[in-house]
Amino acid sequence: MSQTEARYQSHVLETYARMPLEPVRGRGTRLEDRSGRVYLDFCTGIATCSLGHAHPRVADAIRRQAETLLHVSNLYHIPQQAALAEEINTRHVGLPGKLFFSNSGAEANDGLIKSARRFGRHRPQADGSPRYEVLTFNRSFHGRTLGSMAATGQEKIQQGFDPLLPGFRHLPFNDIDALRESIRPETAALLLEPVQGEGGVHVATAGFLRAAAEICREHDLLLMLDEVQAGFGRCGDAMAWRRIAPEITPDGISWAKGMGGGVPIGSFWLSDRAVDGDGTPLPSLMGPGSHGSTYGGNPLVCAAALAVLREIRERDLAANALRQETRIRETITSWNHPAIREIRGLGLLVGLGLDAGAIPCADDRTPALDLVLRLMENGLLTVPAGPDTMRLLPPLNVTDAEIDEGLEILHTTLRGLPPAG
Ligand SMILES: *Cc1c(COP(=O)(O)O)cnc(C)c1O
Repeated sequence: MSQTEARYQSHVLETYARMPLEPVRGRGTRLEDRSGRVYLDFCTGIATCSLGHAHPRVADAIRRQAETLLHVSNLYHIPQQAALAEEINTRHVGLPGKLFFSNSGAEANDGLIKSARRFGRHRPQADGSPRYEVLTFNRSFHGRTLGSMAATGQEKIQQGFDPLLPGFRHLPFNDIDALRESIRPETAALLLEPVQGEGGVHVATAGFLRAAAEICREHDLLLMLDEVQAGFGRCGDAMAWRRIAPEITPDGISWAKGMGGGVPIGSFWLSDRAVDGDGTPLPSLMGPGSHGSTYGGNPLVCAAALAVLREIRERDLAANALRQETRIRETITSWNHPAIREIRGLGLLVGLGLDAGAIPCADDRTPALDLVLRLMENGLLTVPAGPDTMRLLPPLNVTDAEIDEGLEILHTTLRGLPPAG
């Protein structure tokens, strides 16, 4: 056992089943471990290091900001935060709205949930009692706080934490009829991932997103999109929903992961649209004192995120994600390998649906984890999404040669699988 492993055992909660890898430095798509071995990184901190590791523009922005001003309170005006909000609104979302900056995706979703409750109080039921319910979907993942965990549609994540925060119901994903029949007087909002990431890489259908938007209009509900994993170029467009149903207009959006390229930042966005006949804008329901965060949107993380998002936009890295998706799909399809049942996802959020029978795994491992560990031994880092889906999450600036190299490792590893028993 290494010294680091021993220290973990003595001092760190075992909330993760950690893999035997100790990264010490990175550059671009390469991650180097303690022993000096270099890996091709298609895990990217779970879709977080969108520009790879140690990107010079981001490192520069962080260094300069650290030498100038790390942190001030949100009691003051923070120019980097204002510039980042403007960049996101005008260049990435392209719809009028207002942002709040958090430190993570779970917190961003908590902000959306709080906004839905304010909205449901402002637009109550016929008898005057507030609406509060947020509908979410099976296999969804929204985070680990008490709020975002209750929103998450996976029992294994909620197990043992009763009583859960009330006010959520989970519906089958991509089922328009079930959604239509599930609206109750207390329902205030829908929250959904345009591309479900952790739950196995399942893409919302265009019909489902359009129907969700229509049902929200009909029943005066907020349409809230969790783009924490899928947003900011990852899925081949600035926003994942635009790859699927570009004409819909969300009322709320949450982000984190890739927006900071590795610095802890998240955000939620509320549309400027009016929520009543008096023209009350939705963001005004979250006024002074309604929400806050000490660190959220501080100068350091905003300077870094601004560098990341400008790089993604100026180099049109969403277009690269789109192009690489095609290359990945064509190559993997051409192998016709029995272990890969289907390729799901959009852009560089790729999920390989595995055939459990074709992967002979050790008793305590799922097929996805088994394959991920074999790939790691062969020099490629990837990440499971549930028991039988493996994710490829290269950085958005990945080159053709790097994709080819990663796919070659995958192909070699698949061909080297011992026959299933
Ligand atoms: C990762 C993730 C979250 C939670 O983000 P944290 O930063 O880990 O709190 C929420 N929603 C989605 C879709 C995610 O992928």
